[in-house]
Amino acid sequence: MLDHVEIVAPTPKTIAGAKEDWELVIGMEIHAQVASKAKLFSGASTQFGNEPNSNVSFIDAAMPGMLPVINEKCVELAVKTGLGLKADINLFSAFDRKNYFYPDLPQGYQISQLYHPIVGEGEVIVDLEPGIARKVRIERIHLEQDAGKSIHDMDPNATFVDLNRTGVALMEIVSRPDIRGPEEAAAYVLKLRQILRYLGTCDGNMQNGNLRADVNVSVCRPGQYEKFQATGDFSHLGTRCEIKNMNSTRFIQQAIDYEARRQIAIIEDGGTVDQETRLYDTVKGETRSMRSKEEAHDYRYFPCPDLLPLEIEQEWVDEIARALPELPDEKKARFINDFSLSEYDAGVLTAETENADFFEKAAAGTDGKLAANWVINELFGRLKKDDKDITDSPVSPEFIGQIVKLIKADTISGKIAKDVFEISYTSGRAPEEIVETEGMKQVTDTGAIEAALDEIIAANPAQVEKAKENPKLAGWFVGQVMKATGGKANPKAVNQLVAQKLKN
Ligand code: ADP
Ligand code: MG
Repeated sequence: MLDHVEIVAPTPKTIAGAKEDWELVIGMEIHAQVASKAKLFSGASTQFGNEPNSNVSFIDAAMPGMLPVINEKCVELAVKTGLGLKADINLFSAFDRKNYFYPDLPQGYQISQLYHPIVGEGEVIVDLEPGIARKVRIERIHLEQDAGKSIHDMDPNATFVDLNRTGVALMEIVSRPDIRGPEEAAAYVLKLRQILRYLGTCDGNMQNGNLRADVNVSVCRPGQYEKFQATGDFSHLGTRCEIKNMNSTRFIQQAIDYEARRQIAIIEDGGTVDQETRLYDTVKGETRSMRSKEEAHDYRYFPCPDLLPLEIEQEWVDEIARALPELPDEKKARFINDFSLSEYDAGVLTAETENADFFEKAAAGTDGKLAANWVINELFGRLKKDDKDITDSPVSPEFIGQIVKLIKADTISGKIAKDVFEISYTSGRAPEEIVETEGMKQVTDTGAIEAALDEIIAANPAQVEKAKENPKLAGWFVGQVMKATGGKANPKAVNQLVAQKLKN
C-alpha cells in the first residue's frame, strides 16, 4: 500500500559546535484533547472560549459525593485513534488516581490510566522528504482528565481559576524514543496531528492548547542508540530532560536544539545531566529548570475506587474499525496511483481532508494531473492572496473541473483559462457559462487565424524579411495574431501557420 515511500533507518542528527560527536534521542508525550462534546466523566460542555467557569458540573468541581460516569464517546474516539495508529486495542483497561494538589485541580487527583491503558503499541509513519519516511513507534495511549487553568495576570494580588477545562478528556499519546532530531520531532507532531484530524478524534488546534507536547530529550555517543534498540535497555541512552507543554512545532524545534547543546556542554565540561522537568522560555530561547527528579511529585497512584475497569467488546472495536476513514498515507498512495500525481503534489492535496475532497471532486471525469495543477497553483495561490481557506473558496470544485475540461477539449487555451478562472473567482459564475457568454472560445478555425495573419504580414513587410532570415523572430508574429484575436487563437494552430508562411 505504501510502496511510494521508503521507510529509512534513523538518521542521527549530530550537533554542530560540539567538541565530540553526539546524537540526539527524543521521545514525546502528546496530549490531544478528545473531540467530544461532553467531558470524560461529566456531561459538562467542552466548548472552548465560553465564559470562565460556565462549563463546570458538580463532578468537575469535585463536590463531595459526586461520582464520575465514563463518557462512551470519549472511549470510542480513543479506540478510533488507536486503530488509526495501527495500534493494539486493549479490551480491558482501568483508571487510576494520580494524586497532586494544585488550585486548578479541585479533586486533588487526576483520573488517568497508568497500569492498564486503553491502547497499546502502534506507529506513526513520519514523512521526512518526498518518498522518504521514518517509523516512530507508539508505546501507548491512555485516557485522562485535563486540569483547569490558573490565571495569574488579571490581578496583582489574586490568582483566578477557570475550571472550564477541568475534566475534559485527553488522550496521552506516548512515543518510543525513536525521534532523532528537531525537524523529525516537528514532522512527527504534524503527522500525528494530521491523522487525528482525519479521524476526527481531536481538532489538533495547537493554539488553543488542544494538542500539546512534552518533549523528552537526551544525547548519547554514536552507537549507543543501536545498543538500546537491540536490547531495549534504556541505560545505553543518556539522561533525559523533559520539556513541558509545548504547543508550537517551531518552538519544539528550538527547544530541542537548545536543550541538546546545553546537555552536551555539561557533559563535555565533565559534568552530568540531571534528570529534570524544564520549561522553554520562548522569549529568551532557552529551557530552564522547573523541577528536578528529587522534587518530582510522588503521585501515589492507585486504582480509582469510583470506576469499574473498562471492558469493551471486540465486536464494537471491529465496528469502529469498519467505519474508519481513509487515512493520509493511504489517500496519498491512492492519489499517486490513480491520478499519476507526484509525491509532492499528492502530499499537498492530502494535507487536509478538505483539500483532498475538493481535489477529488474537481478531478472527477477529467485529467487528474491537470486538475491537481489547477487546485494547487491557481486556486491555492489565489486563496492565499485573499487569506482564505479552501472551505470558503468562491470557486467550487465543479467549476475547477469545468475549466480543466474546457482546456482538455481545446475549447480554451491555458492562458484564457486563467482569465476565466479570475472571472469565476470574483463573480461566482460558472466557467462554461463565462466562456459561452463572453465569447472566449478558442479560435481553432484556421481560416480566421490565417486571415488575421495575412493582414499582419501585409502590414509589416520589413519584419517579414527579418523573420525569414532569423526564425527566432517568428514569435513576434505569433504574438500579433494572439493580440488580434483577443488571445483566443489556438496557439498550436497559430505557430504552425506562422512557420508555414514565413518559410524562406
Ligand atoms: P514518564 O512517564 O516518567 O515521563 P516514561 O518512561 O513514560 O516516563 O517516558 C516518557 C517519554 O520519554 C517517552 O516518550 C519515552 O520514549 C521518552 N524517553 C524515555 N527515555 C528517554 C531518553 N533517554 N531520551 C529521550 N527520551 C526518552
Ligand atoms: Mg512524562
